[in-house]
Amino acid sequence: MKLIDTVRQLRRELKPHRARTVGFVPTMGYLHEGHLSLVKRAKAECDVVVMSIFVNPLQFGPNEDFDRYPRDLERDAALAREAGVDVLFHPSVREMYPEPMLTRVEVSEITDRLCGVSRPGHFAGVATVVTKLFNIVQPDRAYFGLKDAQQVAVIQKMVRDLHIPVEIVPCETVREPDGLAMSSRNVYLSPEEREKARILSRSLFEARDGWSSGELDTPEEMTEFVRKRISSVPDADIDYVETWSWPDLKPLGTLHDGKFIVAVAVRFGKTRLIDNLLFDAKEER
Ligand code: AMP
Repeated sequence: MKLIDTVRQLRRELKPHRARTVGFVPTMGYLHEGHLSLVKRAKAECDVVVMSIFVNPLQFGPNEDFDRYPRDLERDAALAREAGVDVLFHPSVREMYPEPMLTRVEVSEITDRLCGVSRPGHFAGVATVVTKLFNIVQPDRAYFGLKDAQQVAVIQKMVRDLHIPVEIVPCETVREPDGLAMSSRNVYLSPEEREKARILSRSLFEARDGWSSGELDTPEEMTEFVRKRISSVPDADIDYVETWSWPDLKPLGTLHDGKFIVAVAVRFGKTRLIDNLLFDAKEER
């Protein structure tokens, strides 16, 4: 595995591979099984796998966790190598932003809800850095986790709107044995908070059961059910519980046709966790 930290070197490294299929896994590092599942999929479908590790300041708000976001390049490099990453791109902030940026990539409407409300500017930061990374790596396919479902919707729309020549591959959320969605931010949780955090996935799975059995029949009932279950846990501070159509994130009349998402964001102390489930009324019910 090659470890590369400049755009120039990366371009030089990838030049001989241009005729082959390049798969790309963008991350912020502190790797876990969720990230590695994206690599596994990329390995299976591509000739060359590039992973980036870059904690992007542009997508963090002023009071968010940019400074304390967990970082461990040595451990990450070992895990990436073991997983079969061919090129690990780890640029500095100065390398990615050598001069003040006067350009932003913004996707409207689908960023007006869910995480877009509590994290203003977040998705413009994500769309901008992903565009930069796509231009640097020029991958054929890029792999994103559905744990960050709104991010997948935003990137897919951006790629279509701007004719960016990359195929976006959404990948299933990888969970801990008790259901908690894996996340680099889980390390912030105290043992008590970690225990309480199980309610996110548990409430979503129960909602899925309620929907399958016909007990939960409207978007409002789904949302209310999940909200009540999460509220029953002390210190679970709900940011949002919402049900939208998928992937266009529009209000839903019914849960009886098409795809939809139930998504949650909850704070435990200083740590904000997100989770979601996707539903397909045509296939599942
Ligand atoms: P991050 O490092 O948190 O920015 O995540 C990098 C990529 O890994 C994103 O596409 C995430 O959606 C994906 N990812 C993070 N956690 C998981 C998970 N538990 N399961 C699947 N993909 C994940």
